[in-house]
Amino acid sequence: MRHLTEYSDPSAIRALVAEIARISTRPARIMEVCGGQTHAIMRHALDTLLPAHVQLLHGPGCPVCVTPAAYLDHAIDIASRPDTVVTTFGDLLRVPSASRGDLFAAKARGADVRMVTSPLQALEFAAKHPDKQIVHLAIGFETTAPANAMLAYMANARGLANLSLLVSQFLVPPILRAICADPSTAPDAFLAAGHVCAITGSDPYQALARELNRPIAITGFEPADILLGVLDVLKLLEAGRAEMINAYPRIVHPQGNPEALRILDTVFEVADREWRGLGTVPMSGLDLRPEYGEFDAARRFSGIYSYCNNYSNCNNYTSSDCPAADVLLGKLQPNDCPHFGTRCTPDSPLGAPMVSPEGACAAFFLHRRR
Ligand code: SF4
Repeated sequence: MRHLTEYSDPSAIRALVAEIARISTRPARIMEVCGGQTHAIMRHALDTLLPAHVQLLHGPGCPVCVTPAAYLDHAIDIASRPDTVVTTFGDLLRVPSASRGDLFAAKARGADVRMVTSPLQALEFAAKHPDKQIVHLAIGFETTAPANAMLAYMANARGLANLSLLVSQFLVPPILRAICADPSTAPDAFLAAGHVCAITGSDPYQALARELNRPIAITGFEPADILLGVLDVLKLLEAGRAEMINAYPRIVHPQGNPEALRILDTVFEVADREWRGLGTVPMSGLDLRPEYGEFDAARRFSGIYSYCNNYSNCNNYTSSDCPAADVLLGKLQPNDCPHFGTRCTPDSPLGAPMVSPEGACAAFFLHRRR
């Protein structure tokens, strides 16, 4: 398959590994931002191919891992109301809430939770069932935000007053700034996620590399994509240059996707955002603009959410024993967590990073357990 097999070709991988070993002379801690990159690294054991002084850290880019546990309590409360349906992607179903179990268990108790593969399915469902309130769980990073924005835009255009969005949208650059604010644990370089940059474009990451004073390579998700990104940031580190290299130009363009950016700007505005276990990061998320406020489920259903109207005031850890925040910030490798593979497994998770298909703990458990 063109654009896939050539990036998994063993001879290309061997050449990249040899070049990395040849040019790398000093210790380097490189954080891959996205959970998809983490799973690719673990699946192909790419970290084991690198020199011992080059360490890969696993970053915060797992959407369901950073969604506040209290947000899920709110979603379960809404889904438990009569004549109300919550729609969600499947990866959120088994993520533990703060106090109400998970959406899957709520569904077993009778809550109307439906899995969708596109937000626009929620739109069609709302059109067919005007007697029900449809609430879509709009979470994720820049990758999911355009489709969620389109949902609100279309609901407004079609006058669907029975549809709303419970929004917990995150932005990547502000959390990288937060990570770099602690020089004692900040990585030396980042591998930015290609699917995020396909929306935003590579240009903003050039400015971000200079601001953070760290190299950034934008990568895809095949083995050669990631190793090429590692090679690029190592070259920049060796040369002492804080610049961005787009190692995924077959997908990422300098200005990104103009149509996606236009719909994002029409529907959403930048706002403070609560991150699970990390607290509130200023201007790190997206909220519906006031013009789309009538589609805000947090406002429409605020009255039933009596025990915590502000996610930041709630316990956003699933378990106080789960050090997920340290995993998300790259301070702790998943298999160094004392509960990894013992008290905490995908069947019996203590925290979101063990549940999510993009979680670092799940990646280690699936590919590195033995
Ligand atoms: S292994 Fe489990 S308890 Fe440990 S950080 Fe990961 S999710 Fe939390």
